[in-house]
Amino acid sequence: MNKKILVTGGAGYIGTHTCIALHAAGYDIVVYDNLSNSSREAINRVSILIGQPIDFIEGDIRDAESLRQAFVDHRFFGVIHFAGLKAVGESVTKPLLYYNNNVSGTITLLEVMRQYNVKNLIFSSSATVYGDPKFLPIDESSSRSCTNPYGQSKLTVEHILEDLAVSDESWNLIPLRYFNPVGAHPSGQIGEDPNDIPNNLMPYISQVAVGKLPKLSIFGNDYPTIDGTGVRDFIHVTDLAQGHVAALDYLKQQTSIEEHGSDEKSSDKKNSIGFLPINLGTGKGTSVLELVAAFSKVSEQNIPYHFVSRRAGDIASCYASADKAKDMLKWRAKLSITDMCQDTWRWQSMNPNGYDGSI
Ligand code: NAD
Ligand code: UDP
Repeated sequence: MNKKILVTGGAGYIGTHTCIALHAAGYDIVVYDNLSNSSREAINRVSILIGQPIDFIEGDIRDAESLRQAFVDHRFFGVIHFAGLKAVGESVTKPLLYYNNNVSGTITLLEVMRQYNVKNLIFSSSATVYGDPKFLPIDESSSRSCTNPYGQSKLTVEHILEDLAVSDESWNLIPLRYFNPVGAHPSGQIGEDPNDIPNNLMPYISQVAVGKLPKLSIFGNDYPTIDGTGVRDFIHVTDLAQGHVAALDYLKQQTSIEEHGSDEKSSDKKNSIGFLPINLGTGKGTSVLELVAAFSKVSEQNIPYHFVSRRAGDIASCYASADKAKDMLKWRAKLSITDMCQDTWRWQSMNPNGYDGSI
């Protein structure tokens, strides 16, 4: 049975954790990444953790020729597509870069996949596609709308995938809508390594705790939430990684494909999945202040903070209905906020300068 998976963006934060989970589940992985937001050191560490070298291609998803070579060299069952730029603020100042990288890059990838008749895809989407939700918890049928180019790029790719599934029912396309991934591998060897001052809450808290940043600014304490601060559905990155394995297992089971090939007939489906969006979240909301308190307790560090005005574009509360993932993928998040803080703290204190500090 073909268990070879192309992992675009596999050197990044979620990609590295997913590579470890895929390897443990018996999948063969080939990582394709241009290292624009990651490092070879991350790949080295994954190799050490799984006890074998990683098949790594340094390449850009917008480079069709380089992608084609990967499909010539390997027979893939499917693709997990993490590659993308993800900074909301940067997307506002550089929209063309974001649309080019995230949308054009995905179109190039899909064209190459079609050319080699590999039509199984798991795509990194985001809860951001739900915009300001009309009801909570958010289920997959909620309306979608986005206000910034990053979110638009995710939503546009979802629309492209929907159209593709309608045009040709042999595609199996699963956008996984992540809520707020945090945490790190329990070994402390891999984790999130922001290039600059972090935009997201958890890496910011952990850099304050380790003394790299003086204090946390909390964006707003007047939201209609438990304590006035924003509420999010934080999910441990290793749970998220398992969610990808579950989606892939589901895809394999449903499609019952033994092998793919360049022959169209060899991938005729028994059950086509089409376009199947699934939330990956815990179903539980945690406020900014609750997360600060949990992190402070676990790390035994004081985390100074002050309240500032709301951040433009932020919503009050966002948490998932995780029922679809439970029913269809037989997957649910298992790790707690304490686990998320503990593992983030281990990674942060063992690697205060991220991958840069390694010898
Ligand atoms: P990350 O930046 O750590 O990983 C993305 C990887 O993609 C990086 O290694 C980067 O070098 C690579 N990459 C970017 N553009 C590329 C290109 N053109 N060609 C080849 N490689 C390219 O980000 P992450 O947190 O691991 O996120 C992975 C995916 O999940 C992204 O698509 C992101 O938008 C999505 N997502 C992330 C979050 C989050 O909070 N981390 C939430 C929702 C969705
Ligand atoms: N947040 C904050 N200070 C920060 C970063 C984030 O108060 O330095 C808040 C933010 O307003 C939101 C929550 O933390 O309520 C989660 O923000 P993050 O950027 O991590 O995720 P997202 O907004 O994308 O859900």
